[in-house]
Amino acid sequence: MAERIKIAIIGGGTAGWMTAAALASLATDRICDLVLVESEAIGTVGVGEATIPAIKDFNDLLGIPERDFMRFTQATFKLGIEFSGWGRQNTSYIHPFGTFGDTIAGSDFHQQWLRFSHSAETKPLEAYSLAVQMCRHNRFKFPGRKSGEDTIATDSRFAYAYHFDAGLYARYLRLFSERKGVRRIEGRITGAQLNRDSGDIEGVLLKSGQRIDADYFIDCSGFRSLLLGERLGVRYESWKHWLPCDSAVAMPSERNPELPPVTRATAKAVGWQWQIPLQHRTGNGLVFQSGLMSEDEAVTSLQQSLGGHSGSGPRVIHFEAGKRSCSWYKNCIAIGLAAGFLEPLESTSIYLIQSAIAHFLALLPGKVAPPQLVREFNRQMDLEYERARDFIILHYHLNQRDDSELWHYCRSMNIPDSLRGRIDAFRKRGYIEQYRFGLFAPPSWLSVMMGQGLMPEKTDPLSATVDTTLAQRTMAEQFEAVQQALGTMVSSREFVGNYCATA
Ligand code: FAD
Repeated sequence: MAERIKIAIIGGGTAGWMTAAALASLATDRICDLVLVESEAIGTVGVGEATIPAIKDFNDLLGIPERDFMRFTQATFKLGIEFSGWGRQNTSYIHPFGTFGDTIAGSDFHQQWLRFSHSAETKPLEAYSLAVQMCRHNRFKFPGRKSGEDTIATDSRFAYAYHFDAGLYARYLRLFSERKGVRRIEGRITGAQLNRDSGDIEGVLLKSGQRIDADYFIDCSGFRSLLLGERLGVRYESWKHWLPCDSAVAMPSERNPELPPVTRATAKAVGWQWQIPLQHRTGNGLVFQSGLMSEDEAVTSLQQSLGGHSGSGPRVIHFEAGKRSCSWYKNCIAIGLAAGFLEPLESTSIYLIQSAIAHFLALLPGKVAPPQLVREFNRQMDLEYERARDFIILHYHLNQRDDSELWHYCRSMNIPDSLRGRIDAFRKRGYIEQYRFGLFAPPSWLSVMMGQGLMPEKTDPLSATVDTTLAQRTMAEQFEAVQQALGTMVSSREFVGNYCATA
């Protein structure tokens, strides 16, 4: 029987409550005491409403009933992101949570598509993606599930995520966690005491005078990084030179009754604007570079684009893309904004919370963590952050805009070698590496690279060995299959309405 440990989670935003819910559900035999401290007066960052499909795995693993969760958090389904104006002006493409066709005789679909792209019968690439077509036509159904069955997804052509109200999701997980025995303590942390010899955190001190001791402290305190950053002095590695946007203004507006299953990310002169459809409202925000646009200008620009239909007042948030040089140091593990933040494009933050929880659970030590496990956790998290970072930089780097310094800079900046290698391999022969874990899968890279005008010079030579008639017939069949599937679906609005109305 493994040693049982005490864990204190510091912070009750999305990161804190996701961590509490997961540990309380999945590690009860290893944890003897699980406590979460949060301060209502300080509050949470209150954004973070678009997710990627991994969130469904998280909820399923914890046994969270989907309907119940969707009703509570006012959620809608999400099948991808529509990027407008990132490549040529007035063009848009969709990054789908799904494939662009199945392999044909072992050859990647996009290689066959490139091979026949000049033929009159070949449709635009996005016509072969069911998820893209569902986004374009506002349609939804579960991947391969019959109504009434709640778990198994069998259609490998697409997956889905959610848009949800971040505040309500944290509240949902709080109720869930408290039912599973997590103790919540309301209060402001004013300090932390370190062990003189080891440098580990022994306890955190609350303004009330209370002290909370634990074997491990999970720092979910948000941008401030109260324990890992401030108390233990783990430095912040800035990625601002690759991701120069450093501010956002967020403002809700009226609900969009169509409940489209897609997040919109529209490039603007000095940044980009998001639009996230929820059941009860629409989340909007403008991400911008503060050196090129003032807060007032950003607020005005966002308000104008909403046609004056904004709800409650604008909130401005400042950030710096980057991460702590390690997420686990001594007996403190930072999860969420306390560990790092890229920027909201591609909704990677909640995924990074989830992956930190998963890696922590997989390596969960006894009362004292062997340094090898700590190193492995940090190595895996570095990889996760760097992969997500490269994918986000890709969008900025491949832009074709001319309307501000931001876009010129991003086009000509030096990018990480890891990203340079991926772009070059794609440019040469359409090659995209498949990661064994982490973000993102080849169709995601394909959608952004081709969507923003990067076309391979040549195809993979092996693709030419596939019989021409077979390849073209299979492509036509796959296109037909997408059309047929689309014809069986109802509108996203109807689907969400019916699903959430049923008991
Ligand atoms: P917070 O929500 O800030 O929570 C910090 C917690 O720590 C709070 O409970 C606070 O009270 C507590 N705390 C802090 N100091 C103390 C103290 N001294 N004493 C006691 N308690 C304390 N992510 C996505 O995945 N998708 C998105 O679409 C997305 N959009 C975003 C848009 C913007 C503009 C920004 C800035 C972020 C976005 N994110 C998004 C990221 C996402 O918001 C965060 O990853 C997520 O909300 C987790 O935040 P957190 O829990 O780490 O921090």
